[in-house]
Amino acid sequence: MTNMQENIKEVSKQTIKNLFNKQITPTPNEYHKEFCLVAKEYKLNLNECNQFKELVKRLNKEEQQEIKEKKITTFEDLIPVLLNRVATKNLTTLTALFKESISPSISIGLDEKISKFSVKIGNSPALLFEEDIQKEMQNFITERFEADKKVVKEKTAEIAKLVTLMGKHLTEAITSSGESGSEVSNIKDEIQSIKIKDNNAKELTNLQSKLINAAMSIENEMTQVGEKLSSGKNKVKELEAKIKTLEEQLNKSKEESLKDHLTGVLTRRAYEYEAKKIENNFQRNDTQYAIVFIDIDHFKAINDTYGHGGGDMILSTFGKILSKYTRDSDVVGRYGGEEFLVLIHFNLKRELLKYLKRIKGIVNENSFVYKNEKIKITFSAGVTIRNDHTSYDSALQKADMLLYSAKDQGRNKIILENDTVI
Ligand code: GH3
Ligand code: MG
Ligand code: MG
Repeated sequence: MTNMQENIKEVSKQTIKNLFNKQITPTPNEYHKEFCLVAKEYKLNLNECNQFKELVKRLNKEEQQEIKEKKITTFEDLIPVLLNRVATKNLTTLTALFKESISPSISIGLDEKISKFSVKIGNSPALLFEEDIQKEMQNFITERFEADKKVVKEKTAEIAKLVTLMGKHLTEAITSSGESGSEVSNIKDEIQSIKIKDNNAKELTNLQSKLINAAMSIENEMTQVGEKLSSGKNKVKELEAKIKTLEEQLNKSKEESLKDHLTGVLTRRAYEYEAKKIENNFQRNDTQYAIVFIDIDHFKAINDTYGHGGGDMILSTFGKILSKYTRDSDVVGRYGGEEFLVLIHFNLKRELLKYLKRIKGIVNENSFVYKNEKIKITFSAGVTIRNDHTSYDSALQKADMLLYSAKDQGRNKIILENDTVI
């Protein structure tokens, strides 16, 4: 037996003894532990006792830390720690994923650097756990974000430019309403002339050509609308002219309907309407006026002598005389058969008297000619001043009464309230 064998035998005995004293069941593990402790005491340097320590030294920091914390001393207990290790196969997959994740999705140009790096970690995936490599990875990720951000910014600016121009195009198209298409085509050309950066090319040139097409169809539509508008304009002009003619005809017939067709003075209805206006004006502005109630004398006899035609001619001429010698601001109306009403504005009473004398004179001094026969006529009238009465109606009634007095007093007379007779 060698010296070494002797020593081991001794250590072995002591180990069993110790375990027995410590009341520890001598399982292979417990035995191994105790054996190595005793071997140390015997200064017996055995490889088997150093193996565990040597292995732990070769593990990474985190694993060593875990072993220390969990007070692991046996290979058996070490197994779960080692099982946590990542397999090389998994690392390769991870490396590929990483490469993909740092390749910019929309920008280009980082390819070469990334490829080199990927080859490096692809060859030895364990590098992934090294601090320097991890820093490098971090830089790649940051670079990737920056590159993508830049491209997005550029694209957004170009889209904004295109969209703004399109908006301008539309506005111009709408406001010019087909009359001057040139401004609109300029904008279309501007859209066309925008140089899209190479790295943005595909989607943006697509958008650009879509916008150009849209701009062209707007332009086309506009021209058509313009043509329709101008032909519409002509039609409107035609219609306007028609409406104007109709309006004139309508006004004429309206005027005619207001006038008595035989005498040319206002019909009774039209007279009433005008009388109301004058009365309103009197009440608001105190505009003075007189009511002249006229009736042709012995008109029946005229009809009897000269026939109805003769009577009509007299009526017509009498009406014309009244119209001619009465101002436009005053009113002449045919009240009934051969009865007329005149409303005369005046400031001084002598103006009124002058007017009355003038008509009487004209009628008395002239003859009416009918079928080569000269006919003389006279008329009677009653005159009241509106201001002397409480209402238009009572002034009118009084004028009627005065007219009858004139008839009573022999006709061919104009009688006013203060017994003035013309
Ligand atoms: P006086 O002096 O009292 O007024 O006598 P007069 O004959 O004028 O009186 P009266 O009112 O009795 O007669 C009016 C006549 O006027 C009766 C009617 O035939 C006639 N007359 C009414 N309207 C018209 C008309 O439109 N044309 C013609 N020709 N005669 C008419
Ligand atoms: Mg009469
Ligand atoms: Mg009469």
